[in-house]
Amino acid sequence: MTGYKFYPQSVVWEITFACNMRCLHCGTSAGKARPDELTTAEALALIDELAALECEVINLSGGEPLLRKDWRQLAERIKHHNMYLHIISNGYLVDDEIVADFKRLQFDNVGISFDGTQKTHDYIRRTPGSHDRAYAAMKRLAEAKVPFCAVTQVSNLNLGEIDDIRRELLEVGCKSWRIQMTTATGRMPKDLTLTLDNYPSFIDKLLAYGKDESQIQIDVGENIGYFGCKGTELVGGQPYLGCFAGTRVLGIESDGKIKGCLSMPEEFVEGNIRDSSLTAIWNDPDKFAYNRKFTRETARGECYDCQFLPLCRGGCATTSVGASGHRADNPYCIYRIERRQGIEPTITPLMEKLLDQFKEPAGPTEKR
Ligand code: SF4
Ligand code: SF4
Repeated sequence: MTGYKFYPQSVVWEITFACNMRCLHCGTSAGKARPDELTTAEALALIDELAALECEVINLSGGEPLLRKDWRQLAERIKHHNMYLHIISNGYLVDDEIVADFKRLQFDNVGISFDGTQKTHDYIRRTPGSHDRAYAAMKRLAEAKVPFCAVTQVSNLNLGEIDDIRRELLEVGCKSWRIQMTTATGRMPKDLTLTLDNYPSFIDKLLAYGKDESQIQIDVGENIGYFGCKGTELVGGQPYLGCFAGTRVLGIESDGKIKGCLSMPEEFVEGNIRDSSLTAIWNDPDKFAYNRKFTRETARGECYDCQFLPLCRGGCATTSVGASGHRADNPYCIYRIERRQGIEPTITPLMEKLLDQFKEPAGPTEKR
């Protein structure tokens, strides 16, 4: 990725590891607060440092971020720096008072996790009543006109219910729907993730929803798609430009550990702001090498041979690692599936231009 400016444009920050649920699909196995989470003073100083690093958006995450007592103080400091302020919550604690706080603090987006009809959502979240509380939270947000979206993690557990989820979201007045695919990380058992047989029909469903955005806008997660015909259609004909972990995206854990993306496993921790500053970690030329120094030799399997690799770099690193154990050998790629079926990929003039621009100096030497 030479000639490309690295800065932490978008940060997902686990402000606490504490959670009032124990979701089956939790990518980090959150539960109890870490023993040494950042103090308020450390957290506020970190926000100032992120502003100096030109960060544009901070997404407060967890665990359940509303369990951290000083979340309002952190939100105020983020807005003080004119950064976009987002939060992702399971909605359980979102009452009228908290909705009023979201409004007063000018949250730019509140994401509420919503994973199925009552029985399925409560089962996945292992919390009775969690569906109804999330539904009520979205209703309150809609009535108070606080910008919000629903966030759905799709797996084999709820794939059959996405039409029902959509119906409930329309009912509650939700206008924006983020759809991600659950990865085999944290507590999520691999055998419950989406099976590859189901992947093409899942993408068909997203394409159909995308054609009717008059009712609810669809935001497709970065771990779905990639080139081919349907993958390109999913991003409106634009080239997919790969995973930005450690180049434009940054993840922060509640005790100060730094990763390129919060959803990546612990082996991707690059350091801790208590040992050296975030600025020093970010500016270290040897950090985040899996993306900053990505070459064809980083890839394996069908990604290694792929014509789109210089742009795609194997798609979502977390998904690829969860599924194959490698940074770039990603079975959740619709182009791979279409290629096996003999379907020619869509290649636009812009893709051709970019592929030429990012052409590697030498071709692959030996198949991995
Ligand atoms: S095969 Fe790998 S590099 Fe090629 S488009 Fe699919 S995920 Fe991306
Ligand atoms: S690992 Fe996946 S979710 Fe994280 S930045 Fe990369 S594409 Fe996005």
